[in-house]
Amino acid sequence: MFRQKNNPVPTQGELMQASTRRITLCGLMLTAIAGMTGCTTADNGSAKASQAATAALAANSPFAQVSSLPYNMPPFDRIKDSDYKPAFEAGMAQQRQEARAIATNSAAPSFDNTIVAMERSGQMLSRVSEVFFNLVSANTSPELDQTQQEMAPKLADHKDAIFLDPQLFARVEQLYQQRSSLGLDPESLRLLERYRTEFVRAGARLSAADKDQLRKLNQQISSLTTQFQQTLLKANNDGAVIVDRQADLDGLTPEQISAAAQAASSRKLDGKWLIALQNTTDQPLLAQLKNRQLRERLYTASITRANGGSDDNVAGVAQIVKLRAQRAALLGYPSHAAYELEDETAGTPDAVNRMLAQLAPPAAANARKEAAAIQQVIDRQAKASHAKPFKLQPWDWAFYSEQVRKSRYNFDESQIKPYFELNNVLQNGVFYAAQQLYGISFKERTDLPVYQKDVRVFEVFDQDGSPLALFLFDPFARDNKQGGAWMNSYVPQSRLFGTKPVVSNNINIVKPPAGKPVLLTFDEVNTMFHEFGHALHGMFSSVQYPMFSGASVPPDFVEYPSQFNEMWSHNPQVLAHYAKHYKTGKPMPRALVNKVLAARKFNAGFETSEYLAAAMLDQAWHQLPAGQTPAAKDVMAFEAKTLQAASSGDGYVVPPRYHTQYFQHIFANGYAAGYYAYIWSDVLAKDTEHWMDTHGGLKRANGDLLRAKVLSRGFSADPSAQFKDFYGRGPEVEPLLEARGLTGVTK
Ligand SMILES: [Zn+2]
Repeated sequence: MFRQKNNPVPTQGELMQASTRRITLCGLMLTAIAGMTGCTTADNGSAKASQAATAALAANSPFAQVSSLPYNMPPFDRIKDSDYKPAFEAGMAQQRQEARAIATNSAAPSFDNTIVAMERSGQMLSRVSEVFFNLVSANTSPELDQTQQEMAPKLADHKDAIFLDPQLFARVEQLYQQRSSLGLDPESLRLLERYRTEFVRAGARLSAADKDQLRKLNQQISSLTTQFQQTLLKANNDGAVIVDRQADLDGLTPEQISAAAQAASSRKLDGKWLIALQNTTDQPLLAQLKNRQLRERLYTASITRANGGSDDNVAGVAQIVKLRAQRAALLGYPSHAAYELEDETAGTPDAVNRMLAQLAPPAAANARKEAAAIQQVIDRQAKASHAKPFKLQPWDWAFYSEQVRKSRYNFDESQIKPYFELNNVLQNGVFYAAQQLYGISFKERTDLPVYQKDVRVFEVFDQDGSPLALFLFDPFARDNKQGGAWMNSYVPQSRLFGTKPVVSNNINIVKPPAGKPVLLTFDEVNTMFHEFGHALHGMFSSVQYPMFSGASVPPDFVEYPSQFNEMWSHNPQVLAHYAKHYKTGKPMPRALVNKVLAARKFNAGFETSEYLAAAMLDQAWHQLPAGQTPAAKDVMAFEAKTLQAASSGDGYVVPPRYHTQYFQHIFANGYAAGYYAYIWSDVLAKDTEHWMDTHGGLKRANGDLLRAKVLSRGFSADPSAQFKDFYGRGPEVEPLLEARGLTGVTK
């Protein structure tokens, strides 16, 4: 299969939704890498090397053949780190040969000899990619990291070689022009249209000179975005805050203080303490540090990093937005946002602007209410201690907000965790909800090889008892595993290849010492339901072509099934079934349940506002037409003007979750013009939750309908049409506002 969709590869915990800390990761990872690194010109040396590698790929390579394990599950016990590189080389060489054979076929183009043939191509490359990009996230090693670096530009070359091949495109275009007379079923017609779209978007219709220009722009953008990432890494390290006196760390736990001392030691700063910067504007320790001067120092270090000096990203940003706008113009689009959004559910910058504009006022109004409550605490404490009151600043928010939360809800995590034991949550919560809703069942398999001993494998059976999928569950944090949580696919479902899905969920629970129970926070419980929503999207896939399998939908639709599935974590029937004390088996007391549920909406005004500010900033940068992007010296002024315009300007203004110069999602990680995707999907999710609530909730008829109209269809039908098909109308935003507690505060 040719994989072209420019999906990002989430790399770190910060690639997450604003209010809940998680990431998604869909199947299309090969092109994510290719897309991220941009296109570079093919070099003959590597092509020759590839051909040599084909011959060299040993027949006993674990990637040489389709796996003979159940569900074609990868033979993890046979795969060595050194197996990937030769398999990549051989896989790319094989697909290039296949592509050349299709392009030079003397027979007239037909749907089968061109489109289906492309869909059948590259199977070895798919096999190695699926395993490699999953494991480089979940269980990496220095050798795998090195392989990833080496392969990224080669995969980009590979993509160019195929999508800028004029002979190949000519066949696709000819079929596209004849599409209405080919007698294709709807999914096949869509496949033809998608291939044509992928080629056109990659630049296939450009003149030879413009293709050269495109390759150059891609190369420049690729190296600038890599540079952005490397500079940011350095700026984060250099921006760490050094503390001279332990007394200044008042508010941190002894473990945090000793970790800070150790971090300082590792930089030869013995006797001092070091606070490392996280990627977001807000820094987690701001919620705990009692020393206001230190809070201000930490916050200032966060927002000024990578702005000027030796770790500067501002000049790079000016270049990136300029070149992206130029590339969009070359491809015939008014802006980079227009180019990117055309291929998302949203469709146009206007649609995104409208949605953001609709959400911003209620979120800001709620944030102002939250700010007022915080200011009251500040004033009250100042009065009690006869100190001078001060006006709430960004470095105070988390610290006082935490005090408001405690006084309002009066519980802490240690009270609720005993009711959320990992295996109980998995089997009696996550699986139980899916059983009730969709009629599926689960059986653990201990006879199949895994890549790490903590990984568990479940066989999933359909309502009639027939085999449906394999589900891998990798729960624990490890040094060689990315932070955050994500779903991925090892074997995509397709009828073309007769494959059933093999998917996995990865989360990062800290593993307790042997013999101790694994107890979760409610946030972690939610994350399990969330990721399982992605898994269901993969496992229910029922499509003909691998291109359309499961979660291979645009980013602004992919979070819909997952965010929707979160509703069952706090559904009374499901909660009663899993929230039981790990020792006594007693259900969680009602009063505690109510507090936990009520606290879910806390601070939503702030969290939604900081997310929306970043999403608007992203749009502002990428909606600029070529020739109108600011020079380096005007970058920060452009940002200030944008944020000012986005805020209502009365009272406390929430800072963006990322300022421009450290907004890695949009300047390095493939989310350019796409940061809005999380909340766009959440509108659909909360609207669907509302539908469920008004149609009898957790029952088979509801699950079956959602499965038939959405969860089984992957990308085989237009995502907006899938939603309409399910709901009978387009999405409405009110349920999202309600769920975040943002209604009734628009004034
Ligand atoms: Zn997700």
